[in-house]
Order: sequence, then C-alpha cells, then structure tokens
Amino acid sequence: MSISPEHFVDLQQLGKCYGATRALSDITLHIKRGEFLTLLGPSGSGKSTTLMMLAGFEQPSEGRILCNGRDITGLPADQRNFGVVFQGYALFPHMTVEQNIGYPLKIRKMAPEQIKQRVGRMIERVGLDGMGTRGIKQLSGGQQQRVALARALVFEPPLLLLDEPLSALDRRLRQEMQGELARMHKEFGTTFVFVTHDQEEALALSDRIAVFNRGRLEQLGTPQEVYERPASRFVANFLGDTNLLGVNDISRQDGALVCNYQGRSLRITQGVERPLSFASTEHWLAIRPEHLDLKPVDQTGNGNGVVARMEAITYLGTHVSVDLRTQDAQPIALRIPVSHPLLNSLERGQPYWCSWSQQHGHLISNQ
Ligand code: ADP
Repeated sequence: MSISPEHFVDLQQLGKCYGATRALSDITLHIKRGEFLTLLGPSGSGKSTTLMMLAGFEQPSEGRILCNGRDITGLPADQRNFGVVFQGYALFPHMTVEQNIGYPLKIRKMAPEQIKQRVGRMIERVGLDGMGTRGIKQLSGGQQQRVALARALVFEPPLLLLDEPLSALDRRLRQEMQGELARMHKEFGTTFVFVTHDQEEALALSDRIAVFNRGRLEQLGTPQEVYERPASRFVANFLGDTNLLGVNDISRQDGALVCNYQGRSLRITQGVERPLSFASTEHWLAIRPEHLDLKPVDQTGNGNGVVARMEAITYLGTHVSVDLRTQDAQPIALRIPVSHPLLNSLERGQPYWCSWSQQHGHLISNQ
C-alpha cells in the first residue's frame, strides 16, 4: 500500500473494553502529518482512552494503530517516541525547571553539554527566560503548563498528545494558553492530538475535530464543517446551540432541497450535493440561533421562517438572546445584535416572524 506524505498515523477499527464495560467501538481515523487534531466529546465518550492507546499506555481490545504504515499496536509507550502532556502536568516537584525539561534527554543519554543547550533554547521558546533554576512549586499554573509543554517537545517528538492540558487553568489564563498552544503548534510543526470537552476551545484551535459520543466517532471534519454541517443531532447540539425542526417530505427541486414543516415549505441550498438518505424515517432542519432574524408578524413572507411567540429576552452584552415558542410548542432560540431595530419594542406573548436564509438551514437525517 502506498502512503501519502501527509498520512501519518492510522487508527483502524479500534475498540476497547474494560471488563464488561465497552469504552470504545470501531474508531477509524487518519491523522495527518503536522495537523492540530482535537478529540472532542462529553465526559466518558472515549477521548482519553483513544489518546492512551495512541500513547501506548493502553492496549486496544480490537483494531490496529499504524505509524508511517508500520503496525505499532503492541509497541510499548517508551519506544513510540511520542510526547505526552497530561491534565495535571505530572511534573517532578523536586526538580528545577531545567531538570524537568532536560529529563527526557537525560534518559535518552544525550551528552550533558548538548542537553544544556537544548534546554536553554526550549526555555526561551516557551517564554520561561530566567526561570530555569526555579523549583516547580515557585511557578504559576500557566508557567507549569509551559514547563510541561517544553518537556514534552524537547526531544522533538513527531507527535504530541495532550490530554485536557488547560482544564485546571482559570478562564483568562486558559485563553492565553490557547494562543500559546496555537503558536507552538505552528512554530514546532509537530502533529498535535489534543483532547478536550470544551467546544469553543476545539473550534478555536483545531485544523480538524473528531467528535466522540458514547465511545464512537460521530463526525470528523474542520471546525467549520462540524459546526455548520453537523452529521447528527448529537453533533449539532454539542457544538453550540441549535434549533432543530422536525421536517418531512424531503425532495430535490431546482438545485435545492425542499422539506415540509407544519404545512410550510422550506428550502435548503446548503449541502445539496451530498447523497441523502430519503429512506430515513426522521429528518431535522438545524438552524443556528445567530442565523435567525426577527420581524413583526405582519411581515411574514414566502421565504424560510416560522411564527413563534416571544417568551424571554436575555441581554448578554455582545448580543441579545431571545427565546420563543411555535404554536406546536417547538422552542426557537435567536441571537440578535444589541442594535436590532425591534429590540426595544419586543413584547412577551406576542407572535413574531423568525426567518433565515436558505443557505443557513442544514438537513440532518437519522442514519
Ligand atoms: P473521556 O476521556 O471522553 O471522558 P474515557 O476514555 O476516559 O472518556 O472513558 C470512556 C469510558 O470508559 C467511560 O465509560 C469510562 O468510565 C470507561 N473507562 C475508562 N477508563 C476505565 C478503566 N480504567 N476501567 C474501567 N472503565 C474505564
């Protein structure tokens, strides 16, 4: 089999059972050389188990892992030469910053002079200048995080595995470290596989996102693909807020998909080219709250939209969130700018016309 240069690590039908508990099923995933791939999903969805199998700390119950076409499934962790950063950093508390960062080089028996040079360069690259002789306990959370990253990258691994490395940091520091991670990924050119349950973090950092749910890979795609064209109801709901309207009678007409919602015909022009399962029994039209607009009910047009009664308004500084409900009790969530012309005249209990353009609806069908 010939392997394309960007084809780096292959997970082939990986599965994992812990006794009678099935943690993972049928994970097939190609990791591209140099990419920032995020494993995203709720707690218990199998992200860490996948990462631990990649690292070599867990053995799969089924399937194989290939690296550059070579089967490494049974290869012990210390022979894979991958960098790993854990949630709690696992730094050596009795060692200095320099000693921590130099440790992987020491166990690889590099000459002390070379270790000194490499560690010195690394300390600069992660922004810890002047802190080399400090003890780990004398560092802030963000600085400890940088030491952990430096230690994982110092031996120039081809793959860096990161298990929720930012989860212990407060919000501001977390955002700062996200920027740092993105910078390091670009600068080092190493392939990053990053685990998180935080959707915003995944969208902001990744080249591609693998969405996990109950031990299965639900969707793999760029941030834009998984956000704008979710493959399932789970992905649509997990990645931000979404409105899901149960629709039926799907057909293709004049380059668009047409569906029926409560007797009203709705058009979708996004994703029309993909094969659709018309035989599916259930279909939903997913529309993001920021793609809906609000008009007085007497401006109801022929385009895509539903009439719904206003229930609540929440001012959120950058925008206003409006909750409505259709006649058949379907909740509709909208996000409008603070400058919206209707904002000051909105009244609870009154009906409004909630509309969206045909490029913004996305059809999800039950598999
Ligand atoms: P995530 O990282 O997405 O939170 P995990 O990969 O840690 O999920 O866990 C996936 C499933 O496997 C969960 O149901 C979890 O309880 C189970 N699991 C993980 N590790 C073990 C273990 N060592 N023994 C038994 N069950 C485990």
